[in-house]
Amino acid sequence: MQKSIKVRLRFDALSASKPMIYYLAKDYGIVFSILQADIRPGVGGRTIMEMTGEEADIERSLAFAKDQGVDVKILSKAVVWNNETCVHCGACTAVCVPKALSLDPGTAELCFDNAACVVCEMCIGACPTGSIRVDLYE
Ligand code: SF4
Ligand code: SF4
Repeated sequence: MQKSIKVRLRFDALSASKPMIYYLAKDYGIVFSILQADIRPGVGGRTIMEMTGEEADIERSLAFAKDQGVDVKILSKAVVWNNETCVHCGACTAVCVPKALSLDPGTAELCFDNAACVVCEMCIGACPTGSIRVDLYE
C-alpha cells in the first residue's frame, strides 16, 4: 500500500557526509519532496521531507537511515485556525466532512473542533483569507 509521511532527519557529522537521499531513493524506491534542509557535509544538520512509497519500503528505508546514524522522527500534522483573520464566511465548513468546522447557529461565528479534525487539509484551499494552515510538530 502506498503512503506518504513527513519526517525529520537529523544528521551528525558522519552521516551528513553520506549520500543518504540517493540510497533511500535508489534502494527503496522512495520519492522525496524536501520541505526544509539545512545540512553541511562534515558538520551535520537536519532536513524535513515528505516521503512517498510502499509502506514496507518506507519502513525499511527509515530502518536503514537509523542504522547509518541518522536520527529519524516521523512528524505529526495539526490544523491551526487563525481566529484573528477569519471572516466567518463558512466556506470551509462545506468541505469539512467530519464537521470539525461549523458555524455556530447562535452567533454565526466559526467553531473549530480540533478533536474531530482528521487533517484531510480540504479546508485550506477553501478559505479565501488563508486563515487555516497545517503545522508540523514532533
Ligand atoms: S483538515 Fe479536514 S477535517 Fe480538519 S478542519 Fe479541515 S476540512 Fe475539516
Ligand atoms: S473559510 Fe476561512 S474565513 Fe471563511 S469561515 Fe472558514 S476559516 Fe474563516
